[in-house]
Parts: sequence; C-alpha cells; structure tokens
Amino acid sequence: MRVAVVGAGPAGLYVSYLLKRDHPGATIDVFEQDPPGATFGFGVVLSDTALDFLKADDPETHGLITPAMEHWHDLTVVHRGERVTIDGMGFSAIGRLELLQLLRQRAESVGIQLTYRHRLDKVPEEDVYDLTIGADGVNSLIRQSNPQGFGSTQSFLTNRFIWYGTRQPFDTLTQTFVETTDGRFTAHHYRYAKDLSTFIVETSGQTWQAAGFEQMDDGETRTFCEQVFSATLSGAKLMSNNSHWRRFPVIRNARWSSGNRVLIGDALHTAHFSIGSGTRLAMEDAIALATALREYPDIADALADYQARRKPVLDKILAGADKSAAWYEAFSQHMDLDPYEFAMNYIGRSGRVDPARLERMAPGFMAQYRRRTA
Ligand SMILES: Cc1cc2nc3c(=O)[nH]c(=O)nc-3n(C[C@H](O)[C@H](O)[C@H](O)COP(=O)(O)OP(=O)(O)OC[C@H]3O[C@@H](n4cnc5c(N)ncnc54)[C@H](O)[C@@H]3O)c2cc1C
Repeated sequence: MRVAVVGAGPAGLYVSYLLKRDHPGATIDVFEQDPPGATFGFGVVLSDTALDFLKADDPETHGLITPAMEHWHDLTVVHRGERVTIDGMGFSAIGRLELLQLLRQRAESVGIQLTYRHRLDKVPEEDVYDLTIGADGVNSLIRQSNPQGFGSTQSFLTNRFIWYGTRQPFDTLTQTFVETTDGRFTAHHYRYAKDLSTFIVETSGQTWQAAGFEQMDDGETRTFCEQVFSATLSGAKLMSNNSHWRRFPVIRNARWSSGNRVLIGDALHTAHFSIGSGTRLAMEDAIALATALREYPDIADALADYQARRKPVLDKILAGADKSAAWYEAFSQHMDLDPYEFAMNYIGRSGRVDPARLERMAPGFMAQYRRRTA
C-alpha cells in the first residue's frame, strides 16, 4: 500500500504513525508545507474524557503525552469581576508545538520519513498512491480539489477572535467576561506549561468595528487587548504567534471520501474552540481511519466503514460544538445575567450537561448556586 498524507498537524502525524505501525510494509509519504518546529497558536486543552479515549486505544502515546501536560480540576467563570468556580470539570493542556514534536517522535519511531517545507499545490497522482489522506486543515487542498464529490459546505461565525499567549500562569481554565465603553469582550485563558498560557480574545463583529481594530496594527491591537483585560493579566504582556483577528470557519462534508482521497481532522470538520475538542477529534479520526484500514483489505470498503462507524459519534460532538458556538455568538446578551445565573447558563450552553449530571459533577458549584439564587 502506498499512502500520501498531506499535512503534519496532529491528524497527519498521528494517522501516519498508526498506519505504519499496522502495515510495516506500507510506504507512507507525509508532506508538510511548514518547517519542523513552526506552528500557529499556543497551547490546546483536552478534556479528561478526551484523554480517556487515547488511553484506551493507544496507551503508549497516552503515556508519552500526559507527563508533558498541565492538569486541573476546576473551571472558573469571571463575570462583573466575580470569580465563580465550577468544580469537577477536569481538563489538561499542552503546547501545540510540544504535542506536534511528541507525535512526530511517534511517527519517526516506526520509520516514517517526514518531508517538511513541501507544499503540495496539486493532488498526488492516483497511479502513484493507492490512498491520499487530506490532513491539511481548514484550507484543505484535498477537500477543495473536489468540493462536490465531498459535498463540502463552509460558513463563518460572526464573532471575531484572536489567539494570543502570555507568561501569566492561570490556576484553572478560565473564561473572563469584560464590559468596556466599546462593547463586551471575553477571553478564554489557561496555563499549558509552568509559565505559559493561551489567551484567546473574542468579541462580536459590532464591538470589533466600534473599537476600531480594522485600523490598528499588531502592536496597537495587543496593547488594546492588554488594557481590556488588565485586571486578568496583572501587568503581563500578550504574545503573538501569527496572531490575527479571524472569524471561525464551520466546515462540514457530506461524504468523507471521494475516489482514493479521504479527509480527516479540520479538513473534514471544525469544532468551535470553546469546547476544546478539535485536536482530540483529529486524533480520533486518525484512529477510526486506521482501524478501518486494518479491518478491510479493500480500500473502498475501508473508507465506507470509516464514515459509517465514526459519523454518528462525531455528529453528537459537532452538535454540542455548534450549540456552544451559538452561545458565544450571543455572549454579550447573556452577560445581562447575574454571575451565578450566568455561570449556569454558560455550563448548559452545549446541551450536554443536565442538572442531575451537574449535581454529580460539580456539587460545590451547585450548593453555591442554590445559596446565591434562593
Ligand atoms: C483559537 C483556537 C483555539 C483552539 N483550541 C483548541 C483546544 O483548546 N483544544 C483542541 O483540541 N483544539 C483546539 N483548536 C483546534 C485545533 O487547533 C485543530 O482542530 C487541530 O489543529 C486540527 O488538527 P489537523 O491536523 O486536522 O489540522 P492542522 O493542525 O491545521 O494541521 C494541518 C497541517 O497541514 C499543513 N498543510 C496545509 N495545506 C498543505 C499543503 N497544501 N501542503 C502541505 N502541507 C499543508 C499545515 O501547514 C498544517 O501543519 C483550536 C483552534 C483555534 C482556531
């Protein structure tokens, strides 16, 4: 079997490792446009549930990644300056670069040769490769090579966000909501190394325009955001890494493969970053595709099985992600609620946590909530 993997993000690195592990005789060529060590963004979170799937499927990779992670048990919502703690929400975080380095190490351990600084501008030839895996992210060349064949759709949310880092370490995964004269802002922030944190600033399109970000350069944008979140950052600076304002793209595909091309990770679907699942989904896709290729010798059968088995599970998570994204699109309206009502509204945003489950998961928060709203 000859396989071309386009993209060495989490999806591409992990699927190439799994395929070579299962088919040592296969030729697997991985093409990545960036040099090794380059990446966008800062750290990513993975929920405890996300780590459980990895532990069950691939304990060795789980064992490699978890020591490099920061862990915590609570989530904090800051609204009107009040900190509301929601206990029992286990999360871990890791630097995106560090995760890529560990996954690269896994791929190289089974003999994969990775070709960096090699951007593909056209789809690999069908007579050279039995299978081409599009692990090439939101702007996927493979998906765009045949949007009708894949049944691709793409739309953009209206909020604007910018992905920064900072040296200010935060105790827990925190969502801070702030009111300014230009409008309302939120920051998603958490520590992913001892002295490094992710800091994503988000606001509505209207507030973004009112604040005049369109006319600001990088430095002015950072200074403005530092001022909005001065109480949160306690004087720490924001750091850029290809950081620019974006609108989140919602990507879906009715058919996951077309001929000998198949999509995984962000090339196939995006999940709003507020549920912290894109990386986990990318890695789960890799496991599902590798499992299908292990069980079905015929590639067409394997690709059909990959979508049939994985889609029902994925659809549930994407539905939760879409609800969470819709909540953020209207976050400034929700901010009219008092801090504890607001925190309750926030937890229920994806429709996946009912009151009985919340009583079990977050007894401390529930007791406080009852006291405050009695
Ligand atoms: C603000 C923000 C915060 C996020 N936070 C989290 C989080 O907390 N937790 C989480 O799990 N996920 C998070 N995500 C999502 C996560 O980053 C993605 O879901 C994940 O990176 C998807 O992995 P991937 O391998 O599919 O794609 P990518 O990581 O995008 O990798 C694709 C790779 O393909 C390469 N490539 C593209 N085109 C070509 C080409 N033509 N030739 C060669 N190479 C090519 C790119 O250079 C890139 O390296 C966040 C996303 C955003 C935007």
